[in-house]
Amino acid sequence: MDKLIYRFNNQGSQGGNNSKDILGGKGINLAQMAKLGLPVPPGFTISTKVCEYFYKNKKKIPKKLIQSVKKEIKIIEKISKKKFGNLSNPLLVSVRSGSRVSMPGMMDTILNLGLNDKTVIALKNKTSNGRFAKDSYRRLIQMYSNVVFGIESHFFEELIDNYKLTKGVIQDTELEESDWDGLIENFKEIVKEKTKKIFPQDVNEQLWGAISAVFLSWNSKRAKTYRKINYIPEHWGTAVNVQAMVFGNMGDDCATGVAFTRNPSTGKKEIFGEYLINAQGEDVVAGTRTPLNLNSMNKSMSKIFLQLKKIFKQLENKYKDMQDIEFTVENNKLWMLQTRSGKRTARAAIKIAVDMVQEKLISIKDAILRIDPNMLDTLLHPTLDEKAKKDIIATGLPASPGAACGKVTFSAEEAERLKEQMQDTILVRIETSPEDINGMHAAKGILTARGGMTSHAAVVARGMGKPCVSGSSEIKIDYENKLFKSGDHEIKEGQVITIDGGSGQVMLGKVPTLKPDISGNFSKIMSWADKFRKLKVRANSETPADTKIARDFGAEGIGLCRTEHMFFDEKRIISVRQMILSKTLDDRKEALAKLLPYQKNDFIEIFKIMNGLPVTVRLLDPPLHEFLPKTDKDIENIAKELNIGHHDIRSRISELHEQNPMLGHRGCRLGISFPEIYQMQCQAIFEALAECKKNKIKLVIPEIMIPLVSTAAEIQILRNLVDKTASEIQKIHSVKIKYYVGTMIELPRAALRAKDIAKFADFFSFGTNDLTQTTFGISRDDSGKFLNDYVENKIFNKDPFVSIDERGVGELIKIATERGRIEKKSLKLGICGEHGGDPKSIEFCEKVKLNYVSCSPYRVPIARLAAAQACLKKKV
Ligand code: ADP
Ligand code: MG
Ligand code: MG
Repeated sequence: MDKLIYRFNNQGSQGGNNSKDILGGKGINLAQMAKLGLPVPPGFTISTKVCEYFYKNKKKIPKKLIQSVKKEIKIIEKISKKKFGNLSNPLLVSVRSGSRVSMPGMMDTILNLGLNDKTVIALKNKTSNGRFAKDSYRRLIQMYSNVVFGIESHFFEELIDNYKLTKGVIQDTELEESDWDGLIENFKEIVKEKTKKIFPQDVNEQLWGAISAVFLSWNSKRAKTYRKINYIPEHWGTAVNVQAMVFGNMGDDCATGVAFTRNPSTGKKEIFGEYLINAQGEDVVAGTRTPLNLNSMNKSMSKIFLQLKKIFKQLENKYKDMQDIEFTVENNKLWMLQTRSGKRTARAAIKIAVDMVQEKLISIKDAILRIDPNMLDTLLHPTLDEKAKKDIIATGLPASPGAACGKVTFSAEEAERLKEQMQDTILVRIETSPEDINGMHAAKGILTARGGMTSHAAVVARGMGKPCVSGSSEIKIDYENKLFKSGDHEIKEGQVITIDGGSGQVMLGKVPTLKPDISGNFSKIMSWADKFRKLKVRANSETPADTKIARDFGAEGIGLCRTEHMFFDEKRIISVRQMILSKTLDDRKEALAKLLPYQKNDFIEIFKIMNGLPVTVRLLDPPLHEFLPKTDKDIENIAKELNIGHHDIRSRISELHEQNPMLGHRGCRLGISFPEIYQMQCQAIFEALAECKKNKIKLVIPEIMIPLVSTAAEIQILRNLVDKTASEIQKIHSVKIKYYVGTMIELPRAALRAKDIAKFADFFSFGTNDLTQTTFGISRDDSGKFLNDYVENKIFNKDPFVSIDERGVGELIKIATERGRIEKKSLKLGICGEHGGDPKSIEFCEKVKLNYVSCSPYRVPIARLAAAQACLKKKV
């Protein structure tokens, strides 16, 4: 077996050059601080390998460890000039857990280990401070019993509280030695009652009890759950740190505190922290006494303050990052107890990275790699004003970030109507469907009672960059009476609520929000990222509003313009329905002719905004029934408007009904059956370009995309149709227009036959949403029911609709990329769909050398950063 123990003390450290994997996060940093010569109480770290052994060998401690621990305790004794269990000058230690990543739910720390009925007297005599000695002993009993015996802390806390009440005091510090004496007896009674044993008096029994408890806590239920949620491997194990105690609670020349080397919420370079005079360990965070601002230490302990400032600098120089620090002052001597990279807000992360580049602490590359792209999300949407009061009435899933407030409305039409009156709304639905798209666009935010993180509402809202709280099962919606209930609250249509799609909270009334600020440091990081990335970043967008946002966020083109979304508009849907309900070609053509000008204007607007950048237009894709009326009322309206009998409409609807619409008459299959539909769409595109040319607008090169192709013949036929339409329009308007024709690769067969398909395609765009559905044979809309079971049983590592399944779906992408490029070297390759904005999937796209990723407008900055990181990581 490898080395079991690593020593650290004022002579340096054995583990300083080792890794976190062996020493755990806390251990490695203690070792490195000791190596830097900082004042660290002497101690040692038991390696994570021992924890591994422990679980592989029926929870046994290796024999060799017992010897080594003995030896190391001797060394601490020598340095501290105290002895473990000694009756005149006892050594006390802390036992601290520490895995590779900090893990709530694991055993924390036992302080003051080594005290018993006898050594506590020795400690009292040695320090001439009986109060301190007894306070330390009761803390040990409390912590040890909690961690090792599982006796809940409140049993002890209640005793203290009651005692203080009888004595008429408020603060713990007001209790004297004799008070603690009595409480210690009571504490021991609790232990006896709960464990049927007396509190261990043998200091070695205490030590091994604590060490085993750390190992056992690795497999506690809470720790296991935390690991599952955060993808932390089970086999990592935890290290154990044993360290001489230093005391911040021995008098007024003692203190304990926590600090950040910079402000973790703004990133500002300033001292940020809190401390307490005459206190120990967790007192600062426990909230029993109100801590002081660390800057005031400049007055109370000025020398220590200066020393701390110097150490902050040293630590930042060593770790090249903002540190989160714990320290204790014992009789005017400073001791460092912990340092680690501090958690920070997205705003602080960006400021710190930019500042550190300017301070020459890190390189631009480091700065780019430092920022978690997903974190940017919180900066790109309006956020709740932190200072505002919140009246939370329900919670749901944080499905799409950002905060929004508006009047409650229960229908898409009502949301649209109110939008026209410039009123903000929150669309509240049991669940949403494609018909609600326009209402979702019109609303400021979306709240649903049903559906998960990949429900229709969630996916569409994320695409639109709209805040969404989904699956809030607490709310009961009553469409009929236009109200919803949540607990005791009853919210009627028109009442104002606020939702926070970042936290999943639903609040009563208007909670003030702050606008995103993407200038300054944010834009600096973005421009740095742009220098290092190879992948282009495009956006999925079909409305002028989204297209503008996409450009503002730095999109270099549109990678997916879904034309069907343009059909849902109130004024057009009637013609769309007429077209679908037509029985003859002539009728259909008549309806299409009505749609043509709308479609053409849509394109002109988008082309104008894109000003010469590429735009991928996808021809009609969804099954036609999605456009058809569903309610009786709708059917009657259509019947009236189109002057057809509603029986006719009903029979046409049932004709169009499909068992499995996702695999039905959709995509290019519509183009094959009804070429006039695609013909109209192409005509709109080319006429739009002709008009742009006339108006001297910089010409976009459209990339016309044919969806759901699985055979070369399909694209061959439809490409001919596009070319024919293009040449006709060019002739009529006597202009020359450059364009590309390509296909979406979203069926496994298309990926496999990529070589044949590439003969007729100028580009491929991987539609990974559908490709994932069709590769796994899992419908995204229905997967909510079992996806969790799959993740829980480790069949899926992660939801494959969130991060590309590299081994399966990714393999198909690789095959299609290679085979396509064999046929056509110039083949342009990209990806659209949710994965295009997922950093992990973007890394994969870089690996297989795609040309671009396309994502929702709000994820464009995330993709830009992730694409740069993917390049930088590849080189390392
Ligand atoms: P956590 O990971 O929960 O912060 P720690 O192991 O850092 O747990 O310990 C909790 C508290 O105990 C901290 O405030 C720390 O500073 C204090 N502490 C730990 N070891 C010692 C020690 N040897 N002497 C004095 N205080 C200590
Ligand atoms: Mg700590
Ligand atoms: Mg598709």
